[in-house]
Amino acid sequence: MDVLAFAQSLLRCQSVTPADGGTQGLLAAQMEALGFAVTRLRYGDIENLFAERPGAGAHLCFAGHTDVVPPGEGWRHDPFGGVVEGGMLYGRGAVDMKGAIAAFVAAAARAPGHVSLLITGDEEGVATDGTVRVLEWMAANGKIPDFCVVGEPTSRAVLGDVVKIGRRGSMNARITVTGRQGHVAYPHLADNPVHRLIAALSAMTAAALDSGNEWFEPSSLQVTSVDVGNAASNVIPATASARLNIRFNNMHDSAGLTAWLRGILAEFAPAAQLQVQVSGEAFLTQAGPHTEALTRAIEKVTGMTPERNTGGGTSDARFIARYCPVAEFGLVGVSMHRTDEAVEVAALSRLANVYQTLIEDFCR
Ligand SMILES: [Zn+2]
Repeated sequence: MDVLAFAQSLLRCQSVTPADGGTQGLLAAQMEALGFAVTRLRYGDIENLFAERPGAGAHLCFAGHTDVVPPGEGWRHDPFGGVVEGGMLYGRGAVDMKGAIAAFVAAAARAPGHVSLLITGDEEGVATDGTVRVLEWMAANGKIPDFCVVGEPTSRAVLGDVVKIGRRGSMNARITVTGRQGHVAYPHLADNPVHRLIAALSAMTAAALDSGNEWFEPSSLQVTSVDVGNAASNVIPATASARLNIRFNNMHDSAGLTAWLRGILAEFAPAAQLQVQVSGEAFLTQAGPHTEALTRAIEKVTGMTPERNTGGGTSDARFIARYCPVAEFGLVGVSMHRTDEAVEVAALSRLANVYQTLIEDFCR
């Protein structure tokens, strides 16, 4: 099984989220050819699959996604052409993350062991009919692995320099304060919602949520919009609203932060409405035999000891962390979501070697 040729085939499928473009079928056929039992799991419009090769030892699952973000304009090569030039493979998804999928498939072809793949077509989009649903199916069918590796492009400058062992949580909130409209000359007859909103936002941003810990940077609340939309200069408006985002570490959870926001609103704007949308909770995978096996594999193949990191945005690992230990390791992510996304062909082979070494070590 040639990792480059398979990566090129995946890149030639136009799978701009939520479209599948034939990627899942291509992958399913390849896994069946390697002796895996493939279960296609379609939820809503989203194609997903679970492929498993049973074995005696520990169960290692590789998680990833076949969907990609739109290519945009201005590429030097066809973003769905799978073109190789100057030792680089170009294409939307080259590093995020069809390249990693090809590397893992090649690794599984070479190394025996209890290995499975959880591949979704819904990571770059809303992520509701993808990993979350497949995990529910896996739990219902006794398929939860002992360790899961997500192939997101975690490496910073060279393959092997960073592995992610956790991620911050993220939540969005919208606050709407309703007051009583009135003439600015008669403020005692009105109730200015802008003043209430400002007081509440000041209280929310006055103090740091925490100062971080060994594994996480400090949590951060950022007000992203304040909206009043009042065109008149002599009218106290009836409503004012604001939106904010909180990126929080493992010292918080969304329920606690929601209660904290409600407490501040109760003090400064009791009639305010609060709507919260949680993108994901924070998680941290404690060091253990699983993360050590991954580190050993990276060290053996790349000669580097990876930094264990929890930075960046959210990923599907946040869902997997509810079920089993999870870490993320993949290609250098610099070109992800950019024009001319590309991966070094040599790095694809090295990543396949890392995954192969991990299977040989972990699945014994
Ligand atoms: Zn990705």
